[in-house]
Amino acid sequence: MNFLKDSLIELITQTSTNLPPDVREAMGLAVESETPGTQSAQALGIIASNIDMALQDEGPICQDTGMPTFLIHTPVGVNQLHIKRAIREAVAEATRRGKLRPNSVDSLTGKNSGDNLGAETPVIHFEQWEEDEVEVKLILKGGGCENKNIQYSLPCELDHLGRADRNLEGVRKSILHAVWQAQGQGCAPGAVGVCIGSDRAHGYALAKNQLFRTLDDVNPVPELARLESEVMEEANRLGVGAMGFGGQVSLIGCKIGAANRLPASFFVSVAYDCWAFRRLGVRLDASSGAITSWLYRDPNRAVERMARGEGFPLTGREVVLTAPLSEDTVRGLRVGDVVLITGEVFTGRDNVHAYLMKNAPPVDLRGAVLYHCGPVMLKQDDAWTVKAAGPTTSSREEPYQATVIEKYGVRAVIGKGGMGARTLAALKKSGAVYLNAIGGAAQYYARTVDKVLGVHLMEFGIPEAMWHLRVNNFAAIVTMDAHGSSLHAEIEKDTAEKLAQLQQVK
Ligand code: SF4
Repeated sequence: MNFLKDSLIELITQTSTNLPPDVREAMGLAVESETPGTQSAQALGIIASNIDMALQDEGPICQDTGMPTFLIHTPVGVNQLHIKRAIREAVAEATRRGKLRPNSVDSLTGKNSGDNLGAETPVIHFEQWEEDEVEVKLILKGGGCENKNIQYSLPCELDHLGRADRNLEGVRKSILHAVWQAQGQGCAPGAVGVCIGSDRAHGYALAKNQLFRTLDDVNPVPELARLESEVMEEANRLGVGAMGFGGQVSLIGCKIGAANRLPASFFVSVAYDCWAFRRLGVRLDASSGAITSWLYRDPNRAVERMARGEGFPLTGREVVLTAPLSEDTVRGLRVGDVVLITGEVFTGRDNVHAYLMKNAPPVDLRGAVLYHCGPVMLKQDDAWTVKAAGPTTSSREEPYQATVIEKYGVRAVIGKGGMGARTLAALKKSGAVYLNAIGGAAQYYARTVDKVLGVHLMEFGIPEAMWHLRVNNFAAIVTMDAHGSSLHAEIEKDTAEKLAQLQQVK
């Protein structure tokens, strides 16, 4: 198997940087169906450009390259230990090349291994089959959408939908609830893989396996095929929209499977994947390890460009901000304003926030813009370059954010998915804003970085360190302002009303 490692590196690189055709098609339809000029349409415009940029530069589509999960079929007699070793080497090499972010953290010490290897990382599932070739499928599913996975134990009471019984109607309600509860935090529009039945642990694995189906296939089980199309139609009436900004498209795929269950249990397990739905596969020659064909791709069809125009679709109403920011400037912003930031920005996510609760910041944060981001960085010729730098889910910082804003004078927080009531109150009290950047648009935002000015708290590892960046025309939307308004709270309320209407439709 001389070519095995190179084939696997190519699979990882392509999966991370080039969205498969079925996802491109679904996202193309999403772009077309959104109302022009809306925040959702602007978000989809950035996403489309980002997909093109990732392909062009062979850079990660999103900075969170997820938990690499391999599903492998081997002919009887092929050495699986050999394949496992090659996968580990390929994952480490792809990380070194900046195609994967160092994403593997020791759960006891918090230490990042730096190469995506560690206990149970990457995830590898083997099956044997009767065919002659080896098949390797890979999915890279990031943490933001992974955190929105959800499992229901039926019968149960669901917010706004009432009782979900142990039947397909109960399953339908559970899936609609799953889409609704994700809001923009899983980088909508998303796709759901669903397992009806099994036990808790295996149900989640089977739900994730459904994401290996193409978005445009038809379920061979007629009642599940009907349910899939019904959920697609109804979920897209909820109005969550791209990034949870409100809009026409909330879901790009719904794939449902069923497994037997214990008489006492009835689980509905939902794996929520974001728009950056990175999944590919290859067939390999079993003796050489060379790629014989790609899965999910049509070799006769060239990859089409996604973006209709160039870059961020400007309307002329954007507010230009120069960081650091004054209180007056920030208090002048309102929910819905689109801003273009130029100047200095500091990244900070989970470890930085926990650190700031007990320690003074390593830099002066007065007037600062704090970016919830764990970038992909590469050191080239002694200088750091940003390879991918989109926002991470902000709600994880909710227990800390109010204190960080009030104690250190931060004026703007950039992230995705919005934050809660405590942060909203702190924004009002201190004169600060929350800016929603477009989740997953890691290439787009990497290109707004003019210079890496420095790095602090590197002991937390690359994604968790505090990077000091100079950005130019960094686009984001004010979704929580200093006047007590939150777009996230509004959309959650609106979509809850629409969810309740779906209960009555049946
Ligand atoms: S697109 Fe959003 S949810 Fe998906 S991996 Fe990137 S940051 Fe996470």
